[in-house]
Amino acid sequence: MKMSVVEIAEKVRKGSLRAVDVANETLKQIEAQNSSIHAFLHVDAKGLLEQAAAVDAKRDRGEALGPLAGVPVALKDALCAKGMPATSGSKILEGYVPLYDATVVAKLRAADALLPGKTNMDEFAMGSSGENSAYGPIKNPWDTARTPGGSSSGSAASVAGRMTYAALGTDTGGSIRQPASLSGIVGVKPTYGRVSRYGAIAFASSLDQIGPFASDVRGAARILRTISGHDPHDATSLNAPVENFEAACEKSPRGLRIGVPEEYFAAGLSKEVRASVEKAIARLESDGCTIKKVHLPHTKYAVATYYVIATAEASSNLARYDGVRYGLRVEPNRDLKAMYGATRDAGFGAEVKRRILLGTFVLSAGYYDAYYLKAQKVRTLIRRDFDNAFNEVDAICSPTAPTTAFRIGEKSDDPLAMYLSDIYTLPASLAGICGISVPCGMGAGNLPIGLQIIAPALREETMFTLAAACETHCPPVSPSGS
Ligand code: GLN
Repeated sequence: MKMSVVEIAEKVRKGSLRAVDVANETLKQIEAQNSSIHAFLHVDAKGLLEQAAAVDAKRDRGEALGPLAGVPVALKDALCAKGMPATSGSKILEGYVPLYDATVVAKLRAADALLPGKTNMDEFAMGSSGENSAYGPIKNPWDTARTPGGSSSGSAASVAGRMTYAALGTDTGGSIRQPASLSGIVGVKPTYGRVSRYGAIAFASSLDQIGPFASDVRGAARILRTISGHDPHDATSLNAPVENFEAACEKSPRGLRIGVPEEYFAAGLSKEVRASVEKAIARLESDGCTIKKVHLPHTKYAVATYYVIATAEASSNLARYDGVRYGLRVEPNRDLKAMYGATRDAGFGAEVKRRILLGTFVLSAGYYDAYYLKAQKVRTLIRRDFDNAFNEVDAICSPTAPTTAFRIGEKSDDPLAMYLSDIYTLPASLAGICGISVPCGMGAGNLPIGLQIIAPALREETMFTLAAACETHCPPVSPSGS
């Protein structure tokens, strides 16, 4: 599987490659690898082959094909696709089959993409390693004793292992960028509102965004363009023009001003990640960018702020899982309250319960002002840090994660250590701006390292120009060398 997203689509469009052959190769790779990696929770072989045959037939009839013709795009299990189960990694949604497509899924279908299935994830996207999945952990194809990151773990692992060519994930505080970094692929968190959240199973609605994973920058750019745009079904989706992100990849980065935040190169950052990221920034300087130190002084409050706001929103979003409307129902013959309690007790895992408790606490009378309201104020200060920095620079470069992929089990008993693995991705989420993780080198044990490029709201083009420049120095690699 050596082709990129753009190559597949162009070949299928020209007729030099059949979508059915791409689909069969995808199924072969999933068959060969999924039992050890556990990236997919559901594989829709029949649907995939039917979609591929339909794309080929459309071409044979002489009809124009869409920009993702024949490209398999796996879906994080937090996204609804009509007829395929959606669990969001939780037992409480076991058996739930959505009756409709998320807007992103409808857009992928309209672009002639193929949908191989649903990918494993931390329960309700709460986690950074995949270990919180109710269906068992996901392994990193670079080293199966290690995590691929999370919470979009299966989406990242399936692309890293080249089981599929691309995938969608969701990013609330880092869940696309951090697994992209740990898995050696490209992952994009778009500006809040760029992509419709309609049909995404909610975690924290003021932070959640859907975005693409691909093995290369141009593939991610093409998918992002396809799924972006205003949607009347999502009141927070922005009515802004969708630029040609692929064209931005062809632009020279010369003259762009890059900010390097001192606060992101502090204690906790591993030496090898620091060295690799500094080298990537130096290469951008030799490409003609100017490098400038910037300050994001409220960074130190990002983890605390995020875990107040995200848990508050989660406690409210997850109130709907009561055994009445979806999935699991436990002890149906007891009174209503007892049935709610038994269902939620059996259906939610430990991390989800921890967050519901924390979120309910920070919203409760007497604590609301001290925690929730204060966190909202600090969120504004974090956003202003970026506004100030972007008065002087076009983009910010940093590590995506403080370390390379850690071992499964290494942090699972220590929630705080786990929460710190998102320290560099949380601030951009709180600010609602866009970020990408792009591979920038390898660390000890042949484990990938990612560079994070953050740009102002709706400036994805700048982010893609810089990411493409980074990629010319550090082309895509996979564990099998293809
Ligand atoms: N790891 C972070 C958390 O556990 C972010 C998750 C995400 O972005 N969905 O909340």
